[in-house]
Order: sequence, then C-alpha cells, then structure tokens
Amino acid sequence: MKQHVSGQLPLLPIARGEGPWLIGADGQRWLDGISSWWVNLFGHCHPRINAALREQLDTLEHVLLAGCTHAPVVELSERLSALTGGELGHCFYGSDGASATEIALKMSAHYWRNSEREEKCKFLCLAGGYHGETAGALGVTDIPLFRAAYAPLIRPAQVLPSPDARQGPRAVEQAIAALAACLARDAGSIAALIVEPLVQCANGMAMYEPEYLRQARALCDRYEVHLICDEIAVGFGRTGTFFAHEQAGIRPDFLCLSKGITGGYLPLSVVMTRDAIYHAFLDDSTARAFLHSHSYTGNPLACRAALATLDIFAQDDVIAANRTLAAKIAARLRPLAAHPQVRHFRQRGMIFAFDVEADAGFGHRYYRAALAHGVLLRPIGNTVYTMPPYVLGDAEIELLGRAAETALREALAP
Ligand SMILES: *Cc1c(COP(=O)(O)O)cnc(C)c1O
Repeated sequence: MKQHVSGQLPLLPIARGEGPWLIGADGQRWLDGISSWWVNLFGHCHPRINAALREQLDTLEHVLLAGCTHAPVVELSERLSALTGGELGHCFYGSDGASATEIALKMSAHYWRNSEREEKCKFLCLAGGYHGETAGALGVTDIPLFRAAYAPLIRPAQVLPSPDARQGPRAVEQAIAALAACLARDAGSIAALIVEPLVQCANGMAMYEPEYLRQARALCDRYEVHLICDEIAVGFGRTGTFFAHEQAGIRPDFLCLSKGITGGYLPLSVVMTRDAIYHAFLDDSTARAFLHSHSYTGNPLACRAALATLDIFAQDDVIAANRTLAAKIAARLRPLAAHPQVRHFRQRGMIFAFDVEADAGFGHRYYRAALAHGVLLRPIGNTVYTMPPYVLGDAEIELLGRAAETALREALAP
C-alpha cells in the first residue's frame, strides 16, 4: 500500500479515539468532523457501547443464523420494527451498505416474480444518487466516474431528475412530473424506485424537501412500484428525526440501514420490509424463497453494538438533544454563508453544507488546511460539509467553526 495519495495527502496514523476526537500516534488531536465517513454517532470508544461489547464477547461472539437464532438479533429486530410503528416488521441482515442495496433490489424483483409478474424487474434511481459500489448497487448509483470505470459489468437503472433544492423552487415539482411520466409509461416493467430520503450525501449533500417523498410514495402506490428508502447514511437521527422518511409522513416498502446502526463500531446492515412482502416468500419451495446468504449475517457482536446504540437514543433523548445541538452548530457556521464565494449554505438536522466557487484543487487544499487547524473535514468536490458525532461540546463547536472559516480563507488564498 502506498504511504501517500497523489503525493499531497499524507496518511494520518490514528492511534486512539476518544469521543469526537481522533488521536494521532504522536498525540496530535483532530476533531472527527465527518464521523469517520458518516458512521460514528456518539463518539469513539463510547463507554456504554464498549461495555455492551465486552459482555457480548464473553457470551457469544458468532453463530450461523441458518437454523439457529440468538437474543441480540431477535431483540434488535423487534426494536427496529417498533421504531417503524410495526409497519416494517421483518428484518434481513447483511454486513455493509452495498449489500443492503443488493438485498432490497433482489427482494423487490423476486417479490414480483413470486407474484406472477416477473416482467417487473427494472429499477429507477435519482440523478446523483449513491447506493454502494458492488456491481448491482452501481446499477442504481449515478456517479459518472464509477459507472464509466465498470460500465461493462453494470445493468444500469433508469435515472430520473433529483429534487435537489439547489435547482430552484420548482425542483420537487419537476422531479415529480418526470417520475409520474416515467411510471405512466413504464410501470409494467419496473420493480422499484430507490431514493436517499432528504439528503443525497455522496451527491455533495444535495438536500430536498419531504414533499418529494410524499408524492413519490403516492405515485409508487398508484402504479404498483416498490419504494426503497436507502437510509444507510441519513438514518439514526442524522436529518433531525430518527428516520429521514418520517418527515414526509410515509413508510417505504424497503428500508435499508447500515453505517450508524452500530454507532460506527462494526459492519452491519439490515433491510426492513412489510408483512405482505415477507409472505410472498414464505413457502416450502426453495425457488420461491429469498436467496441471499452472508457468512456473518446477524453477527451477535454487531447486533449488541446496535442495541447499545438504541439504548443511548432512548436513555439520553438524543433526537431532542440534537435539536439544540444542531441549532448551536448552525448558528456558529451560518456567518460563512455571507462569504462572496460561498453558495447554498444548507442544513438538515445534523448535516451542514455549503458549496464554494473555486478551482478544482480547492477540496484538497481545504482538507489540508482544516487538518492543520485540528479538524478532519473532507470536502466532496467543492462542497464543504460537516456531519459530526452527536457529542460536541461548546468548545468543540467553536473549534469546528473557527477551523471551517480559517480553512476557507486559506484554501481560497492564491
Ligand atoms: C455509504 C452508503 C452506501 C454503501 O454503504 P457501504 O457500507 O459503504 O457499502 C449505500 N448507500 C448510501 C446512501 C450510503 O451513504
């Protein structure tokens, strides 16, 4: 492995983690302003998650989930289901986000096949959408670089306009009109529409109004197409509600979760779905059964980390506390919106972003400048964002704000 990426960005050797801090081999400290790629919720080495994991480690580290079951996976499934009001009462486990996408796509198409409608096997996705990087997930991922590199391996979905609010006040209306036209024409061959509710994170934190989800849900119902909500990044309180789709007052047919599910500790993903879909697979014939096995499905340690994470949400009333925290962070960052090269300052819950009018090298310069001021921030293209762990104190918010400002000035200096 190379020590340097493009000769410009030296690797940071991280020795320890402590709350929102990453601590280098030589004792240097950086605030983890992007939650280690959107996975960490309550900081590193959280005492309650660590204690739960130690206990689980001395009880049961792993067992196959075929023909066997165990308490952590049963309890986790019941608690996740309760968080959807019981509407998504069935959980299928994988080990990472891309697998959750694969599972949802396969289960949707297989449902239609089991319902004697096997011609419904195509997918719709949104412009700029990101759902993971395995070959199937790339089919619904609209990032030109990835699609181009692996084009011969990919079965591309139809890409519809994104309701990204940066496109103007009619963004939702236009995206819905395009979806409606597509469904009116092609619904007979379409299994599902997959979306990232409210924030397309990999698309430069593109944010959009819940109204899009409300209308997309109605159209999917009308045309008998499944709605898959990929909340791998936006679930677990990131957008201000526990699940992002709640803000639209809807439920999807499939809900994909990963990243924050274990508090950022261990790889785990889950696809949740409805009774009606589960029952279409319940049969003695293996051809009707859903076929997708992972060796580490429902790993007890990962499930225990997820249960400890849910305990913290309940015990610390995290969603309410985050409203106050998010308002403080927004107040500290908002003055940046007035900078002449800053566009579209935006916030949704605990996600904050703005775009910078600058040359293509800006992102790298910003990353290095922010690190020099003690904060890990990695812009996506020319979008600067922070999605911090939910445990920042006032001093840390001040540091984040100061580093964001100073790095902007330095990265734009000629
Ligand atoms: C990160 C991400 C994925 C992929 O998850 P991995 O665990 O990296 O495979 C899928 N969808 C969204 C919205 C994501 O942010």
